[in-house]
Amino acid sequence: MFSRVLHKNLKPSSIFLISLLSLLGVFQLGSLSAVRAGEQLAPTIEFSTAEKAYIEKTGGIRMCVDPDWAPFERINEKGQHEGISADLIQLVAQRVGLKITLYPVKNWDESLAASKAGHCEIMSFLNQTPARDQWLIFTAPMFYDPNIIITREEHPYIGDIRGLHGETVALPRGTMVEERIRKTYPNLNVIPTGSEPESVALVSERKADMTIRSLIVAAYAIKKEGLFNLKISGQIPEFTNELRIGVLKEEVLLRDILDKGVKTLSAQEREAVSNRHVSIKVEQGVDYSLAAKVLAGALLVLLIATYWNRKLSRLNKELKRLSVTDKLTGLFNRLKIDIALESEIARTQRFGQPFSLIILDIDHFKNVNDTFGHQAGDQALIAVASILTKNTREVDIVGRWGGEEFIVICPQTDEAGILNLAEGLRQKVEAYDFPVAGKKTASFGVSTYCNGDQPREILQRADEALYVAKNNGRNRVEVLQRKLQ
Ligand code: GH3
Ligand code: MG
Ligand code: MG
Repeated sequence: MFSRVLHKNLKPSSIFLISLLSLLGVFQLGSLSAVRAGEQLAPTIEFSTAEKAYIEKTGGIRMCVDPDWAPFERINEKGQHEGISADLIQLVAQRVGLKITLYPVKNWDESLAASKAGHCEIMSFLNQTPARDQWLIFTAPMFYDPNIIITREEHPYIGDIRGLHGETVALPRGTMVEERIRKTYPNLNVIPTGSEPESVALVSERKADMTIRSLIVAAYAIKKEGLFNLKISGQIPEFTNELRIGVLKEEVLLRDILDKGVKTLSAQEREAVSNRHVSIKVEQGVDYSLAAKVLAGALLVLLIATYWNRKLSRLNKELKRLSVTDKLTGLFNRLKIDIALESEIARTQRFGQPFSLIILDIDHFKNVNDTFGHQAGDQALIAVASILTKNTREVDIVGRWGGEEFIVICPQTDEAGILNLAEGLRQKVEAYDFPVAGKKTASFGVSTYCNGDQPREILQRADEALYVAKNNGRNRVEVLQRKLQ
């Protein structure tokens, strides 16, 4: 029992240890021990007479797979089975002396249907579930991998999935996770999909709140596709994928034979195979004592926790940056401006130093789009953003206020100072030769903090001043009379 638990903890975690170490550059791989699976001496397997007879008489075993589950497995453009599962199955097949051929299918649904109809004797790589126990029997696990929850970036972390209510979770139909989520978490609404990439797409497109995916597959997809607006919001520790070969119920002998083969797979072999497909090289020790294994296990858990914390904190930082950034110009967005205004007001109230702001609007900007196209318009917006950041101080907060309107918040700046800055910016815009649009101008409204101002009031005065600037012929800076104290 103990060794089972240890074994279970070691497998997926070691992959992360390695990725952690290689990511951090903590250890340089020196002499790589030769752990390519095929190069190892094949262990001998004792078969019973009945099993021997089965192996001799059988022509070939047909196998159903998931054609779209990289890096675990997929059917490639040439119609071949490839991935972690394919390599492990090949190893097992070689060891037990069976010829396994692929039963071609287009998707996982078809694969399940073919298996139920008896068209394939085995299913390559799947979790054991009560529904599948209806028609399949299983070998020992070939591979372990935890499941994680993927949401869009704005979703808060999920400490306990039971705490969610009515959220939608997109899951490929017919999978273990679908079966178990429906049963264990009736508080979630399952949206069945055709594949894992489809589930992820639904989350990304806001058609579902979350999906649940294997860590290895998610890591692979993040690297390959770039899941830009997604994040890992939590883990479901009790949902570890224990991936086995499923065999038709009546084929007990075949299951026993494959099971013997699976049990010959060593830790090094599994890791070498998995690393081949997640592109991480691994140096393996040869033979640890039990005590060393226990110690290594504890260390791994610690390292994984550190790794996860670092990863989450990195993801969080990126998330924070994105949440306050305007996509087109890279300037701060309204959210950040609102926060900055609140904090400037608080600071001014506390320390009594003035602060001011500018709202500017590009003149006749619609003409740019109408004459040169939207793309030229976008380029001009980026150029104005760049003029603003280049000609303001580090401490000034430059943001995109809306379409072709910008805002600059200037701490410790009085009315004279802000008028001066605005006039300087006006001249810079006027002097600039926009790549496609040519000459453009902008109108500026400025305001300075008055006692008791709320964000809305200081903004409103700048906005009204901007309106005056537009009415007075554009390409100018205006300020309203100070409000009565
Ligand atoms: P005014 O001098 O009175 O400000 O005239 P205007 O043409 O600049 O003002 P109006 O409000 O009529 O038009 C603003 C235009 O800005 C219309 C809109 O299509 C364009 N716009 C807003 N956001 C974007 C954007 O992100 N990219 C592009 N290319 N155009 C944008
Ligand atoms: Mg305008
Ligand atoms: Mg405008």
